[in-house]
Amino acid sequence: MTRHVDVLIIGAGLSGIGMACHLTRQQTGRSYAILERRTSIGGTWDLFRYPGIRSDSDMFTFGYDFRPWHGTKVLAEGPWIRDYIEQTAVEYGITEHIRFGRRATTARWSSATAMWTVEAIDEQTGETEIYTCNFLVGCTGYYDYDNGYRPRFPGEENFGGQIVHPQHWPEGLDYSGKRVVVIGSGATAITLLPAMSDKAAHVTMLQRSPTYATTLPADDPMAVGMKLAKVPAKIIYRIGRIRNIALQRMIYQLSRSNPKAVKKVLLGAVRMQVGANVDMRHFTPTYNPWDQRLCMVPNGDFFKVVRNGKASIVTDHIETFTENGIRLVSGEEIPADLVVSATGLTLQMLGGMSLEVDGEPVVVRDRVFYKGALLDGVPNAMVVFGYINASWTLKADLAAEYFCRVLNHMKANGLTRVEAVARDSDRSPHSIMGSSLTAGYVQRGDAAMVRQGTNGPWWMAHNYYHDRKLLREDVIDEGILTFSAAEGASTPTSPLEGSRTA
Ligand SMILES: Cc1cc2nc3c(=O)[nH]c(=O)nc-3n(C[C@H](O)[C@H](O)[C@H](O)COP(=O)(O)OP(=O)(O)OC[C@H]3O[C@@H](n4cnc5c(N)ncnc54)[C@H](O)[C@@H]3O)c2cc1C
Repeated sequence: MTRHVDVLIIGAGLSGIGMACHLTRQQTGRSYAILERRTSIGGTWDLFRYPGIRSDSDMFTFGYDFRPWHGTKVLAEGPWIRDYIEQTAVEYGITEHIRFGRRATTARWSSATAMWTVEAIDEQTGETEIYTCNFLVGCTGYYDYDNGYRPRFPGEENFGGQIVHPQHWPEGLDYSGKRVVVIGSGATAITLLPAMSDKAAHVTMLQRSPTYATTLPADDPMAVGMKLAKVPAKIIYRIGRIRNIALQRMIYQLSRSNPKAVKKVLLGAVRMQVGANVDMRHFTPTYNPWDQRLCMVPNGDFFKVVRNGKASIVTDHIETFTENGIRLVSGEEIPADLVVSATGLTLQMLGGMSLEVDGEPVVVRDRVFYKGALLDGVPNAMVVFGYINASWTLKADLAAEYFCRVLNHMKANGLTRVEAVARDSDRSPHSIMGSSLTAGYVQRGDAAMVRQGTNGPWWMAHNYYHDRKLLREDVIDEGILTFSAAEGASTPTSPLEGSRTA
């Protein structure tokens, strides 16, 4: 049986739930459903279970624009974020629209019917289900859920201990009294070090090169003060959000315009926290601040465990795993019972789903984003892709709002089809991530990601203020989008059970 909805959302993470809320909030009057591969809501925040998992963005900006985050913690633990997303879904009556355990594999657009046909596999039964929809929305995040990035190291087969990846953390893994080596220097490694050092005999962070990290208070003093003064949560959230968006942008801009000064301040603060006995070489990256994401350290927990010796940092290259640990190029050997390969993500668009437009395969890597939301040459489809140099949600919210504006514009004008078509000169050779951040996973992902545009609405600015105007205020029909009322548009006959009009 084919099930039909007006809008089919793929993914029930932060973006998919947010998208569904916006459909309701903006009274689009469209029926919708969400296909979610997992058996629960939350995406990233349901998948990742390593010790200490937390956000690296402040919650005033990582939370949805329309739903205040009530806590005072600046960064939040993974399970709290999962609860927040889940509660948002409950509050907006979204949960019953989700079909869990369904992996979308293919989406085919037909201009004759002005509809998408989506194939999904019920991962429990292996059965294929067919859905049709007028609009397709990809909220699948930006990485491969099945495979974290896990390089193979020489001599791994000789190692007598266990090797795990943070993306596939074994339930109940007991590391008490063990000597742990965490390979990597990103936000995950920086979180794991303090989180594991309580129970482990010792934790060593083994990095090829250092990352910038900066301390911030675990609790937001302004939020704590306002809460004590009984200021309503909505107001605290609004003020905190405005402040943090501005602060974050200012630090980012300053890092671009005056990297030397920012570097000096960041490294000076690290020196004060780790003390005189720790070699600053382990904290001094070769690149400038914000060439890669700046890591946040609540109450300096990472620096504290390095200072008190519960954890240490080694900057070197792996020569080979041995039976008892890892031998480095310098000749040093680090003994280990457990190795955590915090080596990152494998980037992927659309959760591995393939797209076709009138029988022609769409290679996402060759496309550009119109306003960072609509894929060029793909009718009636949008992809939610958040910020990587700020909170993902800031952009996800704006993009979802914009998409609802497009839907309402179409309804008001009797239109059924919208498409953004780029010219060759609108397309740059770089990926949307590649030219702004130099992190390894961003570079590896160049093969999968959408291209950066060269001008106007094709150029992704990665800037909230710029996008707020572009997506929230600028007119919808400004001459680049093509709209039509498709003559062949068919009326669906079997609405999806449980789907409701937003
Ligand atoms: C460890 C970690 C920490 C992070 N911390 C931050 C942070 O602090 N700040 C920040 O801004 N960003 C952070 N990010 C990025 C983070 O992924 C986003 O912030 C945000 O959670 C993305 O939400 P999403 O819903 O777009 O994607 P996801 O959270 O990835 O959710 C995608 C959903 O789509 C589903 N899905 C995928 N493919 C299919 C398919 N084919 N069919 C059906 N369902 C599918 C998945 O199962 C999943 O539920 C972090 C990422 C990681 C891995």
